[in-house]
This record gives sequence, C-alpha cells and structure tokens, in this order.
Amino acid sequence: MARKIGSRYTAHQILGRGSAGTVWLGEGPEGPVAIKLLREDLASDQELVGRFVQERTALLGLEHPHVVSVRDLVVDGNDLALVMDLVRGTDLRTRLDRERRLAPEAAVAVVADVADGLAAAHAAGVVHRDVKPENVLLDMQGPLGPGGSHRALLTDFGVAKLIDTPRRTRATKIIGTPDYLAPEIVEGLPPRAAVDIYALATVLYELLAGFTPFGGGHPGAVLRRHVTETVVPLPGIPDELWQLIVQCLAKAPASRLRASELGVRLRELLPLLAGMPPLDVDEPGTEQADDAPEEPAASPAPAGEPVRRRGAVPLVPGPKPADSNRDTHTSMRVPAPDELAGGARGTARAPRATGAPRPGSARNRATARRRRAALGAAALALVAAVGVGTWLATDGDDEGGGPGDTRNSAPAAP
Ligand code: ADP
Repeated sequence: MARKIGSRYTAHQILGRGSAGTVWLGEGPEGPVAIKLLREDLASDQELVGRFVQERTALLGLEHPHVVSVRDLVVDGNDLALVMDLVRGTDLRTRLDRERRLAPEAAVAVVADVADGLAAAHAAGVVHRDVKPENVLLDMQGPLGPGGSHRALLTDFGVAKLIDTPRRTRATKIIGTPDYLAPEIVEGLPPRAAVDIYALATVLYELLAGFTPFGGGHPGAVLRRHVTETVVPLPGIPDELWQLIVQCLAKAPASRLRASELGVRLRELLPLLAGMPPLDVDEPGTEQADDAPEEPAASPAPAGEPVRRRGAVPLVPGPKPADSNRDTHTSMRVPAPDELAGGARGTARAPRATGAPRPGSARNRATARRRRAALGAAALALVAAVGVGTWLATDGDDEGGGPGDTRNSAPAAP
C-alpha cells in the first residue's frame, strides 16, 4: 500500500520499525529513499515539530560516504518524516546476532568506517550520542571491503536531539543505551565528541567478543561499571588493537583518540589482522553474591544461536514496537544508590578464554569479593545516580546531534 508523504514522496513498504517510528522504502523526485515516519505521539507534539524545523539545517548538512544523509524533512498534517538515503542492506546488530562475533579484520574495517563518519560529524560540530550496532547500517550492494566487510554507514544523527527534550526525558527516567554510555555522561557532564569514541570502542569490543565490556545485569550496575571498572583484555587479541581499544575506553574523555585518528590507526592495523579467525572468547557468566548458593554457571549459547542481548532502554518512553522480537526495550528508572552500589547481580566482566575457571567457581567468587570490596561502590554510585539525574534534567540544549535508540527488526532493503 502506497502512502503519500508530503507532496514529493511516496512510501511503499515498511523496512523496519524503531522506537521513534517506522522506516519505509519510498520514492522521491530523485529516486528511491528511506523515509522515517516518526511516531504519531511525537509528530503531534508541537514543541517537537518546532525543533524539527529549527534543526533542519544541522540535520541536512551532513554528507559523507559513511554517514546516512538526511535529504529532507517533511512536516505534513500529522506526518513528521525524515527522508534519508536508502541503504540496501542490514544493520550491524542483525549481522552480529547472526555471526555472534566478527573476525578482527572485518570488525576493524566496519569500525574504521564509522570512525570516518564520526570524524566528519565532529568536524561539523555534531555529536551523535547514540553510537551502537543498531545505528550502523551495512551497504550490501556495494563492493566488499577488507575481511569481506560491507561499507558501514552511521545513521540516526540528530533524531534523538529532536526528541530528547527535558520535558520528554523526565528526571526519573534514564534514556539511552547503558552499555555504550561514557562515564562522563553517567557523572552528569554534557556529551562531547569523546562520548562517541567511547561508544564506538565499546562497539569494537562487542564485535570482537560478542558482548560489551561493561554490560549485563541491572542497568544501574552497568552505569556503575562504566565509572569504576577497568576493561579486561580479550584472550588472543593482538596487542596493538587492544591498546587502541583501551585508549578509547579511557575514563578521561581527553585521553581518548579523536575520530579521525582512530580511523587512521584502525586502517593501519588491517594488514596485521588479515585472515585472523574470530577470537575464541566465552561470554562471561554472572558472578554470584557471596551468600548465594553456588550454582553451575550457564553454558555459552550453542554455536549458531543468537546470544541474548543485554538490557537497553528506549530513547523515547513508550511502548515497544509491536513487531519487535528483541528484548532490548526496558523502561528504566534512575537506580537507587544501594542498587548502584552492587545490589544488582551480574558484574562479571572478565571474558573467559576456553578452559579458564567459570564464573561462580570458588576461585572466581574470591576474586569477585576482593573486587567488590575494592570498589567502594556506595560513594561512587551516589555520584553516578546524581549525575544521571542531572544529565537528564539538563540535557537537550547542548551541542551536537542526539541519539536515536533504534530498535529494529527490519530486513534488508530489497
Ligand atoms: P528508529 O530510529 O525510529 O528507532 P531505525 O533507525 O532503527 O528506527 O530503523 C528501523 C529499521 O529500518 C532498521 O532495521 C534499519 O535497518 C532500517 N533503516 C533505517 N534507516 C534506513 C535507511 N536509511 N535505509 C535502509 N533501511 C533503513
């Protein structure tokens, strides 16, 4: 069923649904396009429509081979739509779900593309703020790059900035995707370009390991780990690559590489990684509380089965898309200090090489106890809780584009 969007576009077929709306395969005066039709409740928000028009120039300005360009904005009756370049492919989350983890060369090639796209955005003063696999589209019709990777493009620039107004993001809600949130955001600082680098390094780690460095368990615990924990090396990872990840996951934003430099350094590593198989890493289980009975650790998902994603929260409070089959939409409140202090389970972050002791074993539990004691988590957690509240209360008028928590179940464009 065709549907008119404004006077210039026709939407033909749904490509996928996200938290902010539905993406359609459409047609415009210059050929096929992707049309993101924002949800009705967003489209009927007068304040949001005002911002939509105001942000027009910033949204339309970004043109880069690794950025999904926004071609037009349409405000038409009840419709509010972004007209984008059509990417014939799938998103990186779908690929990762299918393959569990990528070979280092392919992972680095994808992330180098995204770094280049970010470099262009940062040079234009735009911060993305929601870099994650769902927001990376893979062009499956273009030529293959290193390691058989498809060209990667970063999408959803600016969408969340439109939606992410203080009125919508009440101080009692955390909005975003905890696994990718830089520690300075948790501490209440305004998001600058370095938050995108932290998120992208998290994506790189996830592509290599099959899980994020600080994810798992209660979202409050995830936020705490960003602030307090150090990333644990992945078994078998080449040192040069590991050093890049560590530098970009630095707690201090100024210590991270800039996007352009990250892109260059990653591409320099490609010859070294050529032909290397995916890392042999087991997904960490969850640690047991000290007083909990010892339980056998969960086995990793059998090969070929998608690994369950960790909790994420929607950009826009609202219902989960009806056709979403992902368990990533969790409405979340700001965690209480005691929850941040370790009440939540699931803090095992050390990736376990095959043969290493399983989480939950006596050796592992002793290590966990020492680690918990060392954290002094209560005080830090309080800082994090206040920080999140502050961020939420003040967010929306800082620089840069905003996140769109994109959830999708969409297949490739035809
Ligand atoms: P939202 O930002 O509202 O959460 P998404 O950006 O996640 O929505 O889009 C949902 C689906 O639409 C995804 O599966 C994605 O692959 C597809 N999609 C999004 N943008 C494009 C595009 N420019 N070209 C092709 N498909 C797209």
